[in-house]
Amino acid sequence: MQKSTNKSHEDLDLNRAVERQFAKAAATLDLPQGLLEQIKVCNSIYMVQFPVRFGEKYEMFQGWRAEHSQHKKPVKGGIRYSEDVTQEDVMALAALMSYKCAIVDVPFGGSKGAVKLNPRKHSEEQLEKITRRYTAELIRKGFIGPGINVPAPDYGTSEREMAWIADTFDAFHPGQIDNMACVTGKPVTQGGIRGRKEATGRGIQFALREVFKDKKGLQRVKLNAGLEGKTVVVQGFGNVGYYASLFLEEEEGCKIIGIGEWDRGILNPAGLHVRDVAEHRRRTGSITNLPDAKTIKDPKGILEIECDILLPAALENQITLENVNRIRTKILAEAANGPTSTQAEEILLAKGVMIIPDVYLNAGGVTVSYFEWLKNLSHVRFGRMEKRFQEMGADRTLNVVEDLVGKKISNQVRAKLVRGAEEVDLVNSGLEETMIGAYREMEETFLRRKKVNDLRTAAFVNAIEKIARAYLELGVFP
Ligand code: NAD
Repeated sequence: MQKSTNKSHEDLDLNRAVERQFAKAAATLDLPQGLLEQIKVCNSIYMVQFPVRFGEKYEMFQGWRAEHSQHKKPVKGGIRYSEDVTQEDVMALAALMSYKCAIVDVPFGGSKGAVKLNPRKHSEEQLEKITRRYTAELIRKGFIGPGINVPAPDYGTSEREMAWIADTFDAFHPGQIDNMACVTGKPVTQGGIRGRKEATGRGIQFALREVFKDKKGLQRVKLNAGLEGKTVVVQGFGNVGYYASLFLEEEEGCKIIGIGEWDRGILNPAGLHVRDVAEHRRRTGSITNLPDAKTIKDPKGILEIECDILLPAALENQITLENVNRIRTKILAEAANGPTSTQAEEILLAKGVMIIPDVYLNAGGVTVSYFEWLKNLSHVRFGRMEKRFQEMGADRTLNVVEDLVGKKISNQVRAKLVRGAEEVDLVNSGLEETMIGAYREMEETFLRRKKVNDLRTAAFVNAIEKIARAYLELGVFP
């Protein structure tokens, strides 16, 4: 399959899809055309080709870093390692980052980077060399830095690559105290923040919790309130898919009936245990052949399982004209970026499917990245200064209550009531507040604005208005 079209000559170019989403929202707004154009375009893109030496051999790699909008600085966005990535994809993903940050009030512009490679085809040592060389290229051209451009993990990269990036940046800028803030999603022991690895999945959990409290919204798709017992199918069992399904199963009581990976899918209508699937994959290298689960040979087949919530968490263009008529979900929760083509989306919306758009739903990652960046700049762990102080205050309050009522509080209850917030508690609290606030803003725009008939358009309207305000206040230089 070609990247920009499929059998039905459907336009699958992600950049044009994002532009169409932008245009649909922009058409409902009374903003000057020039300003809209300024918001829409990708400000700059750096393409680089570099050699890496593996023993006696040299291999060439191609990479990009796009900066979509600098209305807030630094700009921010993940780095993707994928064989299929194109320059247009990187530009589209950078644009999505600008809108995403605006939607969740994270004060960054949007960026994205990629290297065209399949990480499964390289050893760890080779990936380290490639990552360090790519970072050096970004440093040379001023496309990375705590106040300029701050990458994070994306498809095919993880905290391991982020640690290599931080170390390379630090080697080029010896003694600069804020170096660690040049990248987020680092291991906790290397300036990362507790809760970042899980953050995108955690944000999806918080968002879906909010969706399932919204009785008006649920009426539209004929679902009752509460996540308990809802059936979920997830495509992509990587960082986002794993944590989202884990929290939905273990903390919300959802039934994860299907999980899909690049080679196969597995299905169990009685519900899969996400930890067991992950452990099985760790031992055998695959999610298949799990006792009690049926294997689905066609990896895309998983998307066609009937469920309440379908969670594509792998790649873009997974739901297209080719399979849209076989999709049987009430809620399409876009965990990945761009999983639904424009034409497939129109069909799903006409059928009454609720689409929770990527640009909102997977914003938990960048939200906690923002917290990590703040932590790196303040050089202190969240909660370190106040945890004991809070605990002592709560202890004193309970002593007074005991004296007043003449009864003792059990040690177990006291321990629970006086516990001060750890870093991860504060991170998750900030993330929950962010996801709830942004959902309410999106729902409000959807319900109140004329010509806004879906949640994606509502999310884009909110993003465009916030970015437009920033540009209008800044003016044009010179
Ligand atoms: P990841 O590399 O950790 O996981 C992706 C998983 O999808 C892997 O397990 C891979 O084997 C699987 N996969 C690949 N091709 C597949 C296919 N055809 N069918 C089914 N599974 C397939 O990546 P991730 O970080 O989880 O990112 C997934 C998506 O979420 C991407 O679209 C990314 O842009 C988006 N996203 C990620 C973050 C983040 O914090 N990591 C934040 C926002 C958005």
